[in-house]
Amino acid sequence: KEKIIEYNNFKRIGIMGGTFDPIHIGHLVIAEEIRNEFKLDKIIFIPAGNPPHKDNKKITPAKHRYIMTLLATISNPYFEVSAIEVERKGVTYTIDTIKTLREICSNDVEIYFITGADSILELHTWKNVKELLKLCNFIAATRPGFEMINLKKKIQEMNDKYGANIYTTIVTALQISSTDIRTRIKEGRTVKYLLPEMVEKYIHKNNLYR
Ligand code: ATP
Ligand code: MG
Repeated sequence: KEKIIEYNNFKRIGIMGGTFDPIHIGHLVIAEEIRNEFKLDKIIFIPAGNPPHKDNKKITPAKHRYIMTLLATISNPYFEVSAIEVERKGVTYTIDTIKTLREICSNDVEIYFITGADSILELHTWKNVKELLKLCNFIAATRPGFEMINLKKKIQEMNDKYGANIYTTIVTALQISSTDIRTRIKEGRTVKYLLPEMVEKYIHKNNLYR
């Protein structure tokens, strides 16, 4: 209930969805730069429960991913973490999360779903994409390895087909991925400065990705 009141005090909310396995500086930089550029009141990080597009056997238990997301965002007053997806049973879809948020928030609250370029290129495969695009705006951030021209093409296609509101923005290029971080840890290589120190400590303390 408190959260409901709180969310309604903000008129422009950014949603940062991800597996966050683990969360890294790339995620934090896009969230902060987009918050600033799009004048968003809050960014809510939502770690995925059982994402449909990832091999669930290989993903780290939601509890760890949720805690790492909390640790990474704790010092930014604009950042929050929601357990809405990790608490849901079964495969979690963004459409259900956004619908729940739309029910909680009053109609004048604008929701901006933040993604990297790679996710936007796959948006057409998401569940109920047409409805999803009606319920919220999207912001696509550039990501190293994904060409701006392809991103623009995709957005044009979605706009024509669904009348979507997808914005693009150029963010500081950081060639960091969770996959690369997991590989480095497995191989005993350094991950220092690629993710917040607290997250790195949490990973080592809990023996993750070994
Ligand atoms: P994995 O390698 O496991 O897929 P990831 O680094 O891609 O991990 P996700 O949790 O899959 O991280 O990403 C969540 C969101 O953040 C996605 O929309 C993704 O495009 C975006 N993102 C992640 N890393 C970056 C980055 N370095 N630059 C821009 N966007 C990013
Ligand atoms: Mg990814």
